[in-house]
Amino acid sequence: MSGSIYEGKSKIVCKGKDESTLIIRYKDSATAFNGEKKAELPGKAQLNASISNIIFSYLAQHGIETHLIEVIDETTVLVKKAEIVMVEVIVRNIAAGSFSKKYGIPEGTALKNIVVEFCIKSDELGDPMINESQITAIGLAQPQELAEMIQQSRKINDLLCALFVKAGIKLIDFKLEFGRSGGQIILCDEISPDSCRLWDMETDKKLDKDRFRRDLGNVLDAYREVLRRLQNV
Ligand code: C5P
Repeated sequence: MSGSIYEGKSKIVCKGKDESTLIIRYKDSATAFNGEKKAELPGKAQLNASISNIIFSYLAQHGIETHLIEVIDETTVLVKKAEIVMVEVIVRNIAAGSFSKKYGIPEGTALKNIVVEFCIKSDELGDPMINESQITAIGLAQPQELAEMIQQSRKINDLLCALFVKAGIKLIDFKLEFGRSGGQIILCDEISPDSCRLWDMETDKKLDKDRFRRDLGNVLDAYREVLRRLQNV
């Protein structure tokens, strides 16, 4: 893509129409375990872009400020330029993944309250977990910014749970990224089966990136199923 200013593991970022915007193109590349496991999954870009665009539009309709301005084509979006906060927010409704492993809680165990966790966004450091006082101590975010990110993450969780329930899907956990734009904290990056754990409501079948991470097969069939269900909500 011409004028590329940054190429990440799953997206290419280019200059936008003016100084305040960027163009993001999703890639078909799938990566896991901090880039150790890699594959090309033709069609993933289109599926994740479509799913994320539906979700971001839904969140915007419900009062969440997001970076999404316009869908350009099946894999490309125009977004507000934002200074990315180098902290990933993880919200968990049900135990799974690293939480289950770290604390010895079987996957699928209901949690007595919603868990909000933070990681530093750093491939070099391997995205280490970090707590609120550490985040503000090293200046990754101001206390008010962090409070805003937490409040928005909880609201996004409520909205997403309501959306996915209608699609017959349990929202197990997900990761969010935020940015600073026009003096506000706004939702950036994507929300897709790459960044969420999504289980079928009836069967607990995994409909997310764990199919890739754990070699469960039919990765894109699962992503296609998520898109189909969201389109019918
Ligand atoms: O691996 P872990 O259980 O901590 O992941 C929690 C959630 O955050 C999962 O939905 C996973 O897909 C997402 N995640 C992500 N990017 C990361 C780490 C986690 O999208 N770098």
